Amino acid sequence: MNRHNIPLGKILGIQIGLDYSWFVIFALLTWMLAGSYYPDEFKNWSPLTYWLTGAATAIMLFVSVLLHELGHSVIALRYKIPVRSITLFLFGGVAELAAEPPSAIAELLVAIGGPIVSLGLAVFFYALQPAVSGVEPLLGLTKYLAYINTALVLFNLIPGYPLDGGRVFRAIVWAITGNMTRSTVIAANVGRLFALLFIFTGTFQMFTGNLGGGLWIALIGWFLDNAASVQIQQVTFRGLLTGYRVAQAMSTRYAIVPENRMLQQLVDEQVLGSGQRYFIVNRGEQILGMITLHQVKEVPRQKWATTSATEVMLPFEQLKCLDPDAELWSALQSMDRNGVNQMPVVRAQQIVGMLSREDAITFLRTLQEFGIPPSTTSDTQEASRE
Ligand SMILES: [Zn+2]
Repeated sequence: MNRHNIPLGKILGIQIGLDYSWFVIFALLTWMLAGSYYPDEFKNWSPLTYWLTGAATAIMLFVSVLLHELGHSVIALRYKIPVRSITLFLFGGVAELAAEPPSAIAELLVAIGGPIVSLGLAVFFYALQPAVSGVEPLLGLTKYLAYINTALVLFNLIPGYPLDGGRVFRAIVWAITGNMTRSTVIAANVGRLFALLFIFTGTFQMFTGNLGGGLWIALIGWFLDNAASVQIQQVTFRGLLTGYRVAQAMSTRYAIVPENRMLQQLVDEQVLGSGQRYFIVNRGEQILGMITLHQVKEVPRQKWATTSATEVMLPFEQLKCLDPDAELWSALQSMDRNGVNQMPVVRAQQIVGMLSREDAITFLRTLQEFGIPPSTTSDTQEASRE
């Protein structure tokens, strides 16, 4: 979970978070609803009623998006795919799955879980309207939510990855080709195509009088294009690394400091000189832990002369370690999950090397320099996921 995130608690064991950018959309939406949408629809409300109904509608939209993401999550959990978190941000929500779905059919069902919930909500708010027709703010609220949930279903059905419709599309291509990597690239490229269409349409509208609406459409397109590009990069990177092991990419040269080394000396002699960013802390031959620049920076500078490495290091028991035979790709994912840039590689309680993100990139570059083709095992491995 990143730092731009306010934790809201847990549902079904899933951490729910609010990205700071959500407040922007909350303010904009409330302002748009209270300032123009509701006054156009209903003439005789007090200003306070417009603002309260606007804010309540924006919050209910947030609840709708949350339920949509929970729809994906419930099915993912049924397939034993851990859901790390749900984050609500500027353009909606993201349920972060800790792994790719195990099969095309699992992917398909996880993908439609969200839109099914949104469709249910749309029907629910539509059906509720006669019951609340006597109370205008409630009628306005249910009308808007029926409309916005329908829009959510339609938008998400666009067959461009990583939108839900794109995931359905990817699942179908995956089922036909048996190759998840290739189907991801195809579906993400369709996603980029739709993104360009959004950007084009939005820009056109901006220049033909609809500045606000056009800008909004173009922004969504830009966001979609980014998301699709990241997916393509990731899956390509993964394809290049598949079949390689941690031991092949790790570096065996890492700096060791004795347990009583003071931070001041560590910075002066080892950080500034060599640019080394992490150190293994030893007592004789025994590993006590690891210290990174991040931990050094947590200590106020005037205390560097009197604080030893042992006092601020991560003790060995708390270190997340890698096995030298582990898959390189899953090792990098594990770094992502733990929010670290390097991990010690350990066999039988002994550090045999360190793996950092830079090591993986250097390794990849070396492979390419020598013209070694990407591991050919990736296709058969992907196929065997079926
Ligand atoms: Zn969705």
